[in-house]
Amino acid sequence: MTLRVTVWNEGRHEKTDKKVQSIYPNGIHETLASGLQAHGFTVRTATLDELEHGLTDAVLAETDVLTWWGHMAHDEVEDTIVERVHQRVLEGMGLIVLHSGHFAKIFKRLMGTTCNLKWREIGEKERVWVVNPAHPIAEGLPDYFEIPASEMYGEPFGIPEPDSLVTISWFAGGEVFRSGCCYYRGQGKVFYFSPGHETYPIYHNDMVLKVIANGVRWAAPTPNTPKVTIENRPKPIEDIPIAE
Ligand code: ZN
Repeated sequence: MTLRVTVWNEGRHEKTDKKVQSIYPNGIHETLASGLQAHGFTVRTATLDELEHGLTDAVLAETDVLTWWGHMAHDEVEDTIVERVHQRVLEGMGLIVLHSGHFAKIFKRLMGTTCNLKWREIGEKERVWVVNPAHPIAEGLPDYFEIPASEMYGEPFGIPEPDSLVTISWFAGGEVFRSGCCYYRGQGKVFYFSPGHETYPIYHNDMVLKVIANGVRWAAPTPNTPKVTIENRPKPIEDIPIAE
């Protein structure tokens, strides 16, 4: 079955910033959506200013993997929607958190930590190193690839130890950053991938899109998993004496 991806975007920079508009004339979400469609997914988009931020129960029920881009309006995301997305992740929906989504309510809730990082915006080179070539997200990637102009994100990154780390980035100014981090949360999977500042054409980069597409495949719900039920007093599986 074709994986169903919902690309969520805050969509605010695009409304006011000429430079962002020139790079993403139809919004970051449309560029990401067409990039992911080219990888064979069924893609829809949703944005902050839509009713329920475009993330209704019906949309989320039809979403295998949700991608999240936000920056200047994290606080405007309604807590009820954050709760809804959180529940869907715990039930098995995949979540790809992109770039400044490190401060999104949903990411901070899933991590339970500050998610703080260092940053510098001078358009320096970023070299993304694959540190776990056996990971499914590394499929088809070279040892490393480069993004000519990027925003520096630097360590220490206030996240829990990733369940697996796929990429580390080096920046021309000297810092390093855990740029591709995987987590399991409940039945769901979360992938954080940091490249993607709005004033650089990073979501037009084929390698970046490949990483995100691989992330979608990895984060997709695992089919036929045992249902998690909450039974306070389960009957013993083995035939054992029970004290009355
Ligand atoms: Zn940025």
